[in-house]
Amino acid sequence: NAIEFKKDVPQSGVDKNLYRGVWIYAEQRHGEVSNIVYELLNEGKRLAGKLGTALSAVLIGVNIKSKAQELINRGADKVYVCEDPIFAEFQDDPYSGVLTQLIEKEKPEIVLMGATNIGRSFVPRVAARIRTGLTADCVSLEVDPETRNLRQTRPAFGGNIMATILTPEHRPQMSTVRHKVFKEAKIEEGRKGEIIEYKIDVQTLLNRTRFLGFIKDTNVVVNFAAANIIVSGGRGLGSLEGFKLIKELAELLGATVGASRAAIDLNWIPSSHQIGQTGRTVAPKVYIACGISGQIQHMVGMGSSDIIIAINKDATCPMMQTATYALEGDLHEIIPCIITEIKSS
Ligand code: FAD
Repeated sequence: NAIEFKKDVPQSGVDKNLYRGVWIYAEQRHGEVSNIVYELLNEGKRLAGKLGTALSAVLIGVNIKSKAQELINRGADKVYVCEDPIFAEFQDDPYSGVLTQLIEKEKPEIVLMGATNIGRSFVPRVAARIRTGLTADCVSLEVDPETRNLRQTRPAFGGNIMATILTPEHRPQMSTVRHKVFKEAKIEEGRKGEIIEYKIDVQTLLNRTRFLGFIKDTNVVVNFAAANIIVSGGRGLGSLEGFKLIKELAELLGATVGASRAAIDLNWIPSSHQIGQTGRTVAPKVYIACGISGQIQHMVGMGSSDIIIAINKDATCPMMQTATYALEGDLHEIIPCIITEIKSS
């Protein structure tokens, strides 16, 4: 077993001054950089600016060096590139092995990655090997320039509270971040940065699994990432029929259809449409919540939308209180009026 796994050795007495810099893990699959990377670059740049330190990105894969400049154009000051055929397909062992080695060598103070299937799978292994903490599913981050501690906020206790977590004694401070809680970094063509090729001795990487093949999921996936407008329905729709109104309005607006968990549990719409803590996080330009009360578990999934329009007969519910525009009344009357208005305009 090539990796010495430091069992029962808690990280203690770490010299925090040795750790500097903010890192983001630049997740890619088959050469396609994931959108969340651009969101992390934006937030990473902000945090690095507050700490007066550099922002670095880590790219692991095969034939991916060409993507490094793209990351620099989006705000990275340095990009570490680790290329080897062993990284052609995502596998936990080699990916966590190389990231662990890089972190141990370069000592960043903050490491951020997407709370994606890949991030959720291999990053806890990295944190365990380094003997540091990992705060999963963060929805906001802040840093104290004096202590250099990262305040990591995430839903806890079934979403009933928002917990702010600090790991003041450990470095690096590691977080996975939910999709769409930060805006994507803007592109600045020709921005200058450093590309560092990190040579790895693959013999030092443990690999206990064998890659047999890649089967693409052919189920229809709801594409929230590209949605500028989302029309969402909740229990207030009253029945499966109610979703016909939502779909008609969405079609007229070129919008994507979302739903609360209550609507999913009632089998009015498939679970791939669910928005919230146990569903998807979205941040469209316009979010139209129809018959959704706005419980915290739903709000954590859509609270960063630019404009929220709520249609609800209860003006006191959290969704109506949070909304940019709150339309009080029966959705079965209000939505048909909007549809008629759009059709006649
Ligand atoms: P309700 O809370 O029942 O609200 C219905 C609303 O419709 C009310 O505000 C009512 O005034 C309004 N209404 C009724 N009739 C009309 C009408 N004719 N016209 C206009 N308005 C009307 N929920 C999620 O959505 N996403 C999640 O990811 C999620 N994860 C969860 C995870 C955990 C661990 C737990 C415990 C819960 C989770 N939930 C989640 C459930 C969440 O707590 C709420 O139960 C759910 O969001 C409520 O959905 P709703 O707003 O559609 O229903």
